[in-house]
Amino acid sequence: MQKCYVCSNQFKWKEIVFSIWGSYKPIECSHCGKRHTINFVSKFIVSLLIIVPAVVFGLLIAPAQGLSKPLTFGLIVLMAFVISLFLPLFVKYEYKQR
Ligand SMILES: [Zn+2]
Repeated sequence: MQKCYVCSNQFKWKEIVFSIWGSYKPIECSHCGKRHTINFVSKFIVSLLIIVPAVVFGLLIAPAQGLSKPLTFGLIVLMAFVISLFLPLFVKYEYKQR
């Protein structure tokens, strides 16, 4: 998982999940305070991992199972939530000196 570029402090899983939920909010290292921002590729991966399953489920699986719209929507939200819990394993942050 992502470490701080400056002091190699390991970012917490929670910090990364909250960063993603906060629409890719920069993470400040809890040790040295340097700001790290998510890189472009990671944003792309995150969107892909959330949107693709949501679309496949919403357009293919749910109608085939005859699920109601509110239930489909609820399950998509739940799915996106569960997927987001695994995202810290994939995303990369970078440190830009200002
Ligand atoms: Zn640091």
